[in-house]
This record gives sequence, structure tokens and C-alpha cells, in this order.
Amino acid sequence: MSSSELKRRFPEAQYPNTYDDSSSSSKRMAARATSSSTNPIRYILSEQRLHCMLLGIVISTIFFLLSPQYSSHGHQIVTTLTKPMKIMPRTLDQQIVHYPSQIHHRVGRIPLGLKRKGLRIVVTGGAGFVGSHLVDRLIARGDSVIVIDNFFTGRKENLVHHFGNPRFELIRHDVVEPILLEVDQIYHLACPASPVHYKFNPVKTIISFISLSLSRLNFMKTVMRTNVAGTLNMLGLAKRVGARFLLTSTSEVYGDPLQHPQKETYWGNVNPIGVRSCYDEGKRVAETLSMDYHRGAGIEVRIARIFNTYGPRMCIDDGRVVSNFVAQALRKEPLTVYGDGKQTRSFQYVSDLVEGLMRLMEGDHVGPFNLGNPGEFTMLELANVVQETIDPNAKIEFRPNTEDDPHKRKPDISRAKELLGWEPTVSLRKGLPLMVDDFRQRIFGEQKDTSFLE
Ligand code: NAD
Repeated sequence: MSSSELKRRFPEAQYPNTYDDSSSSSKRMAARATSSSTNPIRYILSEQRLHCMLLGIVISTIFFLLSPQYSSHGHQIVTTLTKPMKIMPRTLDQQIVHYPSQIHHRVGRIPLGLKRKGLRIVVTGGAGFVGSHLVDRLIARGDSVIVIDNFFTGRKENLVHHFGNPRFELIRHDVVEPILLEVDQIYHLACPASPVHYKFNPVKTIISFISLSLSRLNFMKTVMRTNVAGTLNMLGLAKRVGARFLLTSTSEVYGDPLQHPQKETYWGNVNPIGVRSCYDEGKRVAETLSMDYHRGAGIEVRIARIFNTYGPRMCIDDGRVVSNFVAQALRKEPLTVYGDGKQTRSFQYVSDLVEGLMRLMEGDHVGPFNLGNPGEFTMLELANVVQETIDPNAKIEFRPNTEDDPHKRKPDISRAKELLGWEPTVSLRKGLPLMVDDFRQRIFGEQKDTSFLE
């Protein structure tokens, strides 16, 4: 303590003569001040106990908050790679990148009295089918969510229940244009996902998910652009703000697969010049870009390969088989089966997918990971389930098959089971009625029929 401060606190020590020398208390105080000025630690200990205690509390609180070991914030990510990445053993997983401990996260036990801090998360395509369900889960978890969507296939109605929530923001924005936001995580979903929509503007589909300069060409507008420029912009954002980035890729990267069921190690059988290739190749390029940003710029990347997913809020009439059949059965129209109906698909309920995406984002593994339900159904079997659920008298109508329609599709999810502790829990027969309820309401404006849930 400085002598001036001492004088201010103990004026009697400065002017001993103005006090009665015979006063024992004055003498004691002056003696104490004098001895303290020669031994400040002793003085602090004896006179400043309260301040010392407060200072100690402040220092220890700062230590707990800043120390990675003790931080409650399991998701604030330090993007530095301390060691080169390690690839899983070739027999098991030739292409899956695995980071047991190379990338450090601030994961640790939460000190008593401190609550987990919500994250700031961007969900591109958050007004769409899958995105809106993901937003529901993130908001429920306590995070702040910013949705970026151009409403090409998404709808505000999917998010209207979050309007007014201070932890929710909605930005009308096309991901082919750059945007700067301070966030911890980016879920990149923005992309037309149904054949009807991605074939509508194939060039934009691939770019949204490749090169910004291509956007100058007017006709290059939906699928290609979304997959490439969109993914590049979001990876650029992740790099700039140090956010973790999750790409929603697709089982379409396997094309018409020659391996069954499909493992993540399979490189696929895609027709690069077919009508579906804007989507398939766009997603393949998006995966490539993500891995290049990861290896080259140290961006924390997660890749999900999503298999057919269904549920409430799917676009009606978007050409996807489940939504087609359900809408047709409800409208008393024949169910249109393309080809002989023996081609197979696996159908995953949306809540299972959202759980898988969140586990992937929070986990330590880059992927790619197959996220799908391994239950395999032919198109005719699916039509039968729809008949059982909605209208046993619904007719089936056969039409010529579409170009490059894959013959078989079934995910091998053993990697997701092992490394994410994830597997689907909702069967088709359980999930379909939940979707029918939503479709019925949207097509006919009916009240929710909860009897499907009993
Ligand atoms: P969706 O069409 O319902 O949602 C896509 C959302 O992205 C929509 O809200 C749309 O408006 C938005 N969007 C599209 N282009 C955009 C752009 N350029 N800028 C901003 N927003 C844009 O599709 P979904 O089924 O919810 O699919 C979500 C993601 O999951 C997609 O990337 C899709 O490829 C992937 N995926 C879905 C499935 C599935 O079965 N649903 C299967 C495999 C992969």
C-alpha cells in the first residue's frame, strides 16, 4: 500500500502531534500503521481480509471460465490441429477421418453453479423440412439460432412458432452470396433436395452447394450454384469466425450403387452427365470442398450422408416418393409407382435424422457418416404401407421409370452406431402416421388428427 493511501486512511499517523500522546488507542493505531507500512503483506492480511477474499473469488472465477479443462462450454471450439490427422485402420474405415484427441474442444465438467452457455448456431436452409425440425431441437436445447433461407422450397410457416423468441433470427438470404455472422456452429442444409426442385434449375443446384464467378451466367441459377458457391461461402464463414461446419450431404453420392448396403468407404457409381448429376455431383463437390478446407485451413468439418427422410413439414408434391404416395392417397388419387416398383429405399423418420446430425456436430469425428434407417422397402412395399395407413382401397398405377433411378439403397450405419452411439428408433409404420396427420391438415385444412399417435 502506498504511503499516500496510508495517510488518507490513517491521518493520525501523518499528524501524530495533533492527537493526545497520552491516548493509548491513538498510539496503537499509529504503531499499527507504521508496522504495516514496513510489512504490507501482514497489513493486507490483517486489515484487508474482505478485499482479499473478493479478489480471490474474482481470480478463481476468471480461471474457471477461461481454463479449457474446466469450461462449461462444451461446444466452443479451438480449431487448432495439434497433430496431423489420423485415418482409421484401412480394413474398417478407409475413408473416414478420425480425430480422437487431435482437435481440442472445451469439453469438461461444469463447475458447480455455472450453467452451460447456449451456442450461436447458423442453420442454412432452416425454413425447409429437415432444417425446421433441427431448429426446434436447438432452440429447445437453449441455443440461439440464426436461420438463413431464400425460401426456394422452405416456408416461414415451418418456423412461425419461433417468431418473437429472442434466441431466434430469420434472414432471407441466398447462400450463393457471402454473409458474415459471429457464430459457433454452422449446419449447412440449404439446397433444393427433391428431384422436382433440383432439376428445376440444375446449374444453381450444383453451384449453390461451386464458383462464384459462375453466378454471373444467368442460366446457371439453382442446384449447382447452391451446392458449390453456397458451401464455399459457408466454409469461408466457418474459417473466418472459427466455427464448426456440418455439411448435409446425401446417399446420392453413391449413385446407382454396386455395393449393397452402402458403406461410407464406397466411392459410388454416379452418372456425371445425367439429369440427377447436378445434385449428386454437386454434393460430391461439396464434400470435396469441405475436406479441402478441413485439411488446408484446419476448419472443423462434419459430413453427414443422409438417406431418404420423411416426416411432417415435407413439401407436398415435391416428387419424393413418400410425400407423393401420402398426398396421392389422401386425395384419393392412384399411387404412381415408377418402373416395376422393385427398386428399394430406406426411410428414416426426421427426428432420428436430427438426433444423428446433432450427435455428429457435437462429436469428435469428421465422417462422412451414413445417417439413414437400414430398414429396406421396395416401392411396392412402401405403397402397401401407405395403403394400410391411409386408404386400403388406394390404387397403384405403374409409370415408366425416371432416368438414373438407383436400383437399391440401404445404409450401412455401423460407423454411426459405433462412433456416434446413434441409430434410428422410429419405424416406418410408426412414423408414417405422424406425417399423414400433418399432410392431412395442410391439404384439407383439417384439425390435427391425434388418433394416429395413440
Ligand atoms: P428442403 O427443400 O425442405 O429444404 C432445403 C431448404 O434450403 C429450403 O428451406 C430452401 O428454401 C433452402 N434453400 C435452397 N437453396 C437455397 C439457397 N441458395 N440459399 C438459401 N436457402 C436455400 O430439403 P430437406 O429435405 O429439408 O433437405 C435439407 C438438406 O438435407 C439438403 O441439403 C438435402 O440435400 C439434404 N438431404 C435431405 C434428404 C431427405 O430425404 N430429406 C436426403 C438426403 C440429403
